[in-house]
Amino acid sequence: MAKKNYVSNSTESSRMFENDFLESLTKVHFSIPLLIYIPVIIYFSWKSLGPGEMDIIIFIGYFLLGLFIWTLSKYILHRFVFHFKPKGKIMERIHFIFHGVHHDYPKDRLRLVMPPSASIPMAIIIYFFFRLFFDPSSLGAFFPGFIMGYLFYDMNHYAIHHANFKSGIWKKIKQHHMLHYYSEPEKGFGVSSALWDKVFGSDFKQQKKKTKPNVD
Ligand SMILES: [Zn+2]
Ligand SMILES: [Zn+2]
Repeated sequence: MAKKNYVSNSTESSRMFENDFLESLTKVHFSIPLLIYIPVIIYFSWKSLGPGEMDIIIFIGYFLLGLFIWTLSKYILHRFVFHFKPKGKIMERIHFIFHGVHHDYPKDRLRLVMPPSASIPMAIIIYFFFRLFFDPSSLGAFFPGFIMGYLFYDMNHYAIHHANFKSGIWKKIKQHHMLHYYSEPEKGFGVSSALWDKVFGSDFKQQKKKTKPNVD
């Protein structure tokens, strides 16, 4: 249950490491994931379609499947890993570094998208995990779709916090995410859409009126 609902308005969060190098690894400008992962998407897509001679329709199918599986993975990760509240000082620290900081300081621009120091090892693990299920050729189309989902999510998440949406679908998406901080952190784990919250019963019950407007 959410007893603690502390949310800071500060644009800078607290220091995580005494060591300057480790500290620098926890901060990242939102454009960095684009610079790292767009080449990854292009590389895998080129390999499948060029040397791999994959049929374009099959490629699109696997690519979209990757995108779709990303949305589910993100939901599971956010709900069961990022919101897992462990006991013990070190585990609490790890929880803070990965997700607690974003709940306490949602306005810190440098602690919003995932830093490469975390995302690159995760991407490698995920790649080898999916290799258990896909042959190399279909993985070459599935994986860039999955990464595309991640990039879209990260940029969309950044925009949710730092752009002002006056109306329409984006405003709805923003409200859904803001309730996750300001109202019920144990609900609303989907960020780019409420789809999986509806499927798994973690959507907000009341009408989304009470959102605190002061969030940009
Ligand atoms: Zn959260
Ligand atoms: Zn957020």
